[in-house]
Amino acid sequence: MSDDTFRAGFVAVVGRPNVGKSTLINAIMGSKISIVSRRPQTTRHRILAVQTTKTHQIIFVDTPGLHRNAGKVMNRMMNKTAVNALLDADLVVFMCEANRWTHEDQYALDRLHDIKSPAIAVLNKVDKVHPREEALIAIAEMTERYTFEDVVPMSAKRNENVDRFLELIPKFLPESELLFPADTITDRSELFRTAELIREKLTRYLRQEVPYGLTVQIERFERDEHGVAINAIIWVERDSQKGIVVGKGGSVLKRVGRAARLEMKAEMGMPVHLEMWVKVKDNWADNEKDLLSLGYDTP
Ligand code: GDP
Ligand code: MG
Repeated sequence: MSDDTFRAGFVAVVGRPNVGKSTLINAIMGSKISIVSRRPQTTRHRILAVQTTKTHQIIFVDTPGLHRNAGKVMNRMMNKTAVNALLDADLVVFMCEANRWTHEDQYALDRLHDIKSPAIAVLNKVDKVHPREEALIAIAEMTERYTFEDVVPMSAKRNENVDRFLELIPKFLPESELLFPADTITDRSELFRTAELIREKLTRYLRQEVPYGLTVQIERFERDEHGVAINAIIWVERDSQKGIVVGKGGSVLKRVGRAARLEMKAEMGMPVHLEMWVKVKDNWADNEKDLLSLGYDTP
């Protein structure tokens, strides 16, 4: 590779839900581009994160986890989104956890079989592997499962080995002009990220099924010299979920609001006034029209 060749391309980060894909994207970018939670299926959209240097532009594609279709239209959309990202990628990063291999991982890996692009495997969460030498066994096992260009152990959460991983990428990208303006960080708007941030807090503070059945819509976003005023609607699928999201005496909504506000304030550098309402849209996650109107991509 000659030094004056500028390279640019798409790197799709795929794997089953909850392995740490969004955590890696955020670690690379040094800020929260994509929300993260302990729960599977937190990421629902294709989210681009763009890193531009003098020699290359890498467009990382964060994807919803590849999972067996769980009935609802939204799940099918999510899988489709992840598969499309795979098809468009110049390089595929397949992520799993270093300390386990499940049927769900195998299912996700099987999606790679029609893909012609090169693939790198990332064995994430090595911080959970004790003793660390066990990771070598995991690497060996991984090389048997698929023809990866490389297999990289990593802790995205602790930012371990992320730099080494980044160095591997440019050589797989085609020669190209900039694909996005050099100052682009993400393709997602501030409105989208605000909605996602609120959903992240809801996902953290709510139990069981409820986070899967809600989505957030920003109704108002106004900024002046004093601060930002945001009105958000939290849509749930059933009447019975409404009370759970609000909590006793509004306690859950209060905690969610406080956490979201603090983070927004830190990011925007100004006071944030946030008001939220919980409303019911029957079975929105299984209704294509509702999904479209709520900002979900078409299948
Ligand atoms: P995704 O569904 O693949 O995007 O996964 P997320 O990025 O949302 O992460 C899922 C969970 O794994 C979150 O609780 C993360 O904090 C956690 N996680 C991500 N990377 C690591 C890691 O390197 N080590 C450990 N111990 N946890 C991690
Ligand atoms: Mg994610």
